[in-house]
Amino acid sequence: MITLDQVGKTYPGGVTALRDVSLTIEGGELVGVVGPSGSGKSTMLNLIGALDLPTSGSVTIAGHELSRLSDRQLSALRGRTIGFVFQQYHLAAGVPAVDNVADGLLYTGLGLRERRRRAGQALERVGLAHRATNRPHQLSGGEKQRVAIARAVVGEPDVVLADEPTGSLDSRSGMVVMRLLRELNAGGTTVVVITHDREIAAGLPHRVEIRDGQVRS
Ligand code: ADP
Repeated sequence: MITLDQVGKTYPGGVTALRDVSLTIEGGELVGVVGPSGSGKSTMLNLIGALDLPTSGSVTIAGHELSRLSDRQLSALRGRTIGFVFQQYHLAAGVPAVDNVADGLLYTGLGLRERRRRAGQALERVGLAHRATNRPHQLSGGEKQRVAIARAVVGEPDVVLADEPTGSLDSRSGMVVMRLLRELNAGGTTVVVITHDREIAAGLPHRVEIRDGQVRS
């Protein structure tokens, strides 16, 4: 599903965040990415998510080598194949939960009614059907992250990428979020989770350990 072949990433300004990273993630895997702050984890997730391109080497997602795609094709790949979950939720302020989730379907061209119907179902899957009309400021951190997960999965992507999804949550809400990601994976979705949390990392079936921009194990 995801192949990084001798990938390097140097940012404008000269910071080299990844060097010579080769990695394969099969469809249906649940993978944790661990490593100290600044080691290159988010950079790697951004490349896997087609949000950024490597400066050397190649990244292939679901059979598509990113450097061969136009900006438009990259957006389409992101929209159809990948769902994102971020530490700080990235929900639109003042917008009801159901519409935040429905935004995950904007690329599909479906009408608003159908987007909302599917968003309602996705909220049900994360146990938040009763919060559909609440705005983000009316939700707890754990609920916001569950809305963000509903948005990530409403389009039924092959891959869900989560960057420190429990990083801003108390441990109980964190467990709920991890349980949702596991259930998603059990249904066949490939899930990649960056985490600082040793306990969470220890419970994941596959782990990639990054240090100083390189895969250590
Ligand atoms: P992690 O997610 O493990 O904390 P990052 O991938 O965010 O690590 O960062 C790796 C290195 O790249 C750090 O030295 C960071 O300062 C640098 N970096 C990250 N993003 C950028 C950027 N957009 N521009 C320049 N340097 C960056």
